[in-house]
Formats: sequence, C-alpha cells, structure tokens
Amino acid sequence: MKESVAIVWFKRDLRIHDHAPLSQAASLIESGTKVLPLYIVEPDYWQLPDSAARHWQFISQSLNELNTALSNLGQGLLLETGNTVEVLEQLRKRFTITSLHSHQESGNLWTYQRDKNVLVWCIKNHIKWHEHEAYGVFRRFNDRDHWAGYWEMYMARQKSVAPTVLPVIEAELAPLALPGLKLEKLEADENQHIQHGGRSEALALFSSFIGERGRNYSSGMSSPLSAATSCSRLSPHFSFGTLSIREVVQKCRKLLKNKQLNTTWKSALRSFDSRLHWHCHFIQKLETEPLFETHNMLQIFNGLRENEFNEAYFTAWKTGATGYPLIDACMRCLRHTGWINFRMRAMLVSFASYQLWLHWKLPAWHLAQCFTDYEPGIHYCQIQMQSGTTGINAMRIYNPVKQSQDQDPKGIFIKRWLPELSKVSEHYIHEPWTMPLSMQQAKGCILGEDYPEPIVDHVVALREARERFSDFKKLHPDFWEHAKALHNKHGSRRKKAQRQTAKSRKKANSKVDKNQLSLF
Ligand SMILES: Cc1cc2nc3c(=O)[nH]c(=O)nc-3n(C[C@H](O)[C@H](O)[C@H](O)COP(=O)(O)OP(=O)(O)OC[C@H]3O[C@@H](n4cnc5c(N)ncnc54)[C@H](O)[C@@H]3O)c2cc1C
Repeated sequence: MKESVAIVWFKRDLRIHDHAPLSQAASLIESGTKVLPLYIVEPDYWQLPDSAARHWQFISQSLNELNTALSNLGQGLLLETGNTVEVLEQLRKRFTITSLHSHQESGNLWTYQRDKNVLVWCIKNHIKWHEHEAYGVFRRFNDRDHWAGYWEMYMARQKSVAPTVLPVIEAELAPLALPGLKLEKLEADENQHIQHGGRSEALALFSSFIGERGRNYSSGMSSPLSAATSCSRLSPHFSFGTLSIREVVQKCRKLLKNKQLNTTWKSALRSFDSRLHWHCHFIQKLETEPLFETHNMLQIFNGLRENEFNEAYFTAWKTGATGYPLIDACMRCLRHTGWINFRMRAMLVSFASYQLWLHWKLPAWHLAQCFTDYEPGIHYCQIQMQSGTTGINAMRIYNPVKQSQDQDPKGIFIKRWLPELSKVSEHYIHEPWTMPLSMQQAKGCILGEDYPEPIVDHVVALREARERFSDFKKLHPDFWEHAKALHNKHGSRRKKAQRQTAKSRKKANSKVDKNQLSLF
C-alpha cells in the first residue's frame, strides 16, 4: 500500500520557522499522514533572462541548511529536478498525496503560469492545495483602501510554530544532492563575493544590525561608502525566505517599545520598519497586476522609448564603462558583490532611462541577474518608478556628478572599484574628462584609453529626455486621468497618515534618503 503524505512545497521560503504550510501539514501527522518536504529545481526557470547563477548559489546554501533543520526533525528535504507538474505526477504514482501545502508566490509571469498548471493538476487529481500568505501581500485585492490595515493584522498575528518531529518516510528517497547549474549569464567568477545563504547567516546579520550596525542606518543608507554596513543586508534572506518578514517586524516593534531606547535608534528602527512595509507594498502591485513585469505601468507610455534602443550605450552601462565614475563604480561593485544600496540602484536606472534613453526591460533583466536579492515585485515596480513609466512622480532624476560629489566626496568608493582612476585627485575624480592632457599623463589615466570619455553629455541628454517626456504628454491630453486611475488602484494610502505624523518625525527623518521616502 502507498504511504499517505502531505507535500510541503518549498519555494521562496527556505526555513522551518514561521512557516505556515509546514505547520499545517505537520498537524496532519496525528491522523497518520506523513510530511514530505519537497523542493523542485525547474530547469526552464533557470533559463529565464531574470534568473542568475548567484541566485542559485544563495538558494543552494539555504537548501543545505533547510535540509539539516528538517533532518533534525526526522525527515529531510526531497530535491527533485524537472517540470513541477511532472514531478508531482511522479510522486503521485509513489505516494497517496493527501494535500499540497505551500506559500503563495507573487513571482514573475513564468511562476504565475506554473502555479496555474499546478492548480489544474491538483483539481484533476482531487488534491487540495493549501496556499498560505507568504508575508503582507494578499490575493484578489483590487485597490489599496484597506491594504495597510490587513498588513498590520498579518504582522501582529502569532508566528507559526515549527514542528518538533517529522516521522520518517519509509519509501526510499534520494539524499539531497544539489545540482551545479551551468548558467552562462554573468561571468562565473563574478559570483564569488555575493552574500551567503542560509538561516544562520540571516540571524547573524539581523542580530548585528539591531545590536550595533543599525545605529547609523538613517545617516548611512545613502552613501555607497557606508550603506553596506549601515543597512541590514537582509534583502536576499527575505527574497528567498530564510527569515520571515513577520519575525523581523515583531522583533523590531518589541525593541521600539523599550523606553530606554535613544532617539537615534528609534529613528533607525522606525525607518527600517517602514521599509519592511514597502517590501510588501511593492510586491502587492505585481500580485495585483502581474503584467507590470512586461508592460509599462501607465500604458500611455507605450512607444516612448521602445523603438530606439542604443546597444552601445547599454553595453557601456552594464559593464561599467560610461565614463561617469560613480555610475561605473556602482555597476562594477554590483556585479562583484551582488548588492548596492537603494539610492545607487535608483541612480543607475535613472541614468539608463533618462541620459541613455534606454527602455527599462533589458536593464531590468541585467540588474535582476546582478542582484542576489532579486525580488520580481519590488524589482519591476521600482525600475518602472525610476524610469518614469508610472506617471506618478514621473521624473526621478539623479545627476551622476552631483551624486558623486555628495555621496563619495573624496572618491574613495570610486577608486576602490575603478583602479584606473586611483591617482586622480579629489578635484577631478567626479569629472575626470575635465583633466588637462598633461594632468591625465601625470596621473597615468588617459581618457579614451585608460578610462572612457563620457558616452553622453549628461546635461544635454537630460534636457532632451525632459523635452521628449513633455512632448509625449502633450500628445495625450488624457494623461493625468490615466495616471490618477493607476494611482487609485496601486498607490499607497499611507501618505495621509504620514503627513499627520510628519511634524513629530521631521527631525528624526532629516537625514533619511528623501527619494526613497516617496512611495508610489
Ligand atoms: C531599481 C531598483 C530595483 C530594486 N530591486 C530590488 C530587488 O530586486 N529586491 C529587493 O529586495 N529590493 C530591491 N530594491 C529595493 C532596495 O534597494 C533593496 O531592498 C535594499 O537596498 C536592500 O538592502 P537591505 O536589505 O540592506 O535594505 P534595508 O534598508 O536594510 O531595508 C530592509 C528591507 O526593507 C525592504 N526595502 C528596503 N528598501 C525598499 C524599497 N525601496 N522598496 C521595497 N522594499 C524595500 C527590503 O526587503 C530590505 O531588505 C530595488 C530598488 C531599486 C531602486
């Protein structure tokens, strides 16, 4: 007779703590059903242009730890490779599957379609699929009127308790063997310095953030010099679920209740808490409108940039060879480490979109491959916001020279990532093209040979971009009507509440990255 199992399908939730699907499946053990923890490597997914070897590296490390945690309870992880429906069908031949348990996934269009196929398979085979909310993102929400309240309720709810034992499955299951996926996307040697996966790493990061590093969160988040240590660096752990957002929100709010907490820490933890809210706020947009991955949010912008993609500019941008030192240093740092702070991500996209007039789709795929923390819902919505295709707060433009002077005044970050500029003085580091030839020779950096001339004049290119936007809007007199409708559906309702508390928080937020504070 076949064994009865409840399958727990792990996706972007690689933990056992605060894992509702696992807890629910474990509650069936009493009635004689065993829990089969499953992870599926889907080869077609790994061919997509927004997947990358570094994501797999992070996931593999996390799967190893997850397997250890599950094995300690009694039953380790089963790893299968193939099309998900085919894998499930094979398992159905071996086991009596009583139910399937997973978190809801608000991923890209590919995972959305795969989930639809799984649902059809479940219906056909009379298997109930229990899908649980993964964080504060909700299905079938058509506007944002009550969203913030639901988010608060979700975060306040008790965390799911991890099971204490998982009875061993008798059928023979292959031991965990993680495949080394060969993905020819970024250079293989560019994956060596990315963040480590696994829950123990996530807990250590969180502990060092709330214990010490977070003290400088508000003042340190904007500059690439300080952000890497001042920010939490939890993003890949949230993206692949080694930590739950709820456990972090609850801990943060507990700390905020401490009356001894000084104002610096209060401000830091409040800013951090807001960003955990944004995490879900952005993913909710893609959950509600999956086509934001491929279509301009404001459809009226169709045709604005699509028809004139400059390949040479794109190559220069993605390889860190635009001739603008901070842009190039950020891109090279990102390729090497898999992370850069919010302001610099926004600046990279702004430069690609306005000065280089590149449609956002190919830059989005490139950045998705670079970010270890790639999270479709945040990613596509942020990219569109920074490239001006949302219609709300349309022009988020960063001047690459001013950013360089403000965020890296001595050029320390620039020189770390662009060694060819290492001898250039502070005076010229932000605009090396202004160096006289004799100076270039003296500093061992000839423009056009050792380091590129700027590929565009950023002031002229920006003026042209503004004009194009303005002309485009003139062609569409109903522009604001469409923009307002989009905002009504997807915009935050928090601004009103924020305005009310703005006075009391003004001081605390004075050093916070203002551009990041603006929510669409
Ligand atoms: C063009 C662009 C693309 C982005 N793509 C991604 C992505 O693919 N994955 C991703 O996790 N973040 C993305 N972000 C948001 C943000 O830059 C990162 O979340 C943040 O830099 C991660 O570092 P951290 O964990 O140290 O953040 P912290 O500042 O410590 O913030 C804590 C958490 O809050 C959330 N968060 C912070 N800022 C934002 C924000 N602006 N919007 C939504 N959530 C936020 C993240 O989950 C983050 O881990 C993108 C931003 C831009 C401008």
